[in-house]
Amino acid sequence: MARCDQGYLCRVCGEEVEHITDSELYLRYVIGEIDPETLHLTSECHLRCAPALSQFIADNRFDPPVEMKGLFSQTELDPDFVQSRASLINRGYGRLWAIRLERRKPLTVLEYPLTEFIQKWQ
Ligand SMILES: [Zn+2]
Repeated sequence: MARCDQGYLCRVCGEEVEHITDSELYLRYVIGEIDPETLHLTSECHLRCAPALSQFIADNRFDPPVEMKGLFSQTELDPDFVQSRASLINRGYGRLWAIRLERRKPLTVLEYPLTEFIQKWQ
């Protein structure tokens, strides 16, 4: 996420998180898991470096998909939880692409979240 010359670095691999569509931080933000007040204090991470979250992304633009093994693999979790989690995370991922491709009017960070979470912080 390059907001200035130096991009933000991933806390797992140390590489730059170049696009919002690679960002675990912004995905969690658009799905209402991070307060806008603490967004700038929270460390960046690639989606691919956060498999517990990104294993739920089923989208052609996220290729190849991430598979997580072990206790937090979606195959080990409650199917109802997996379904609702996947639905939310995929909507959030689509939202990141909409933000990235927005050309007409740059959005403010407060406009980034999915509609139902914009109100959550007000
Ligand atoms: Zn990384």
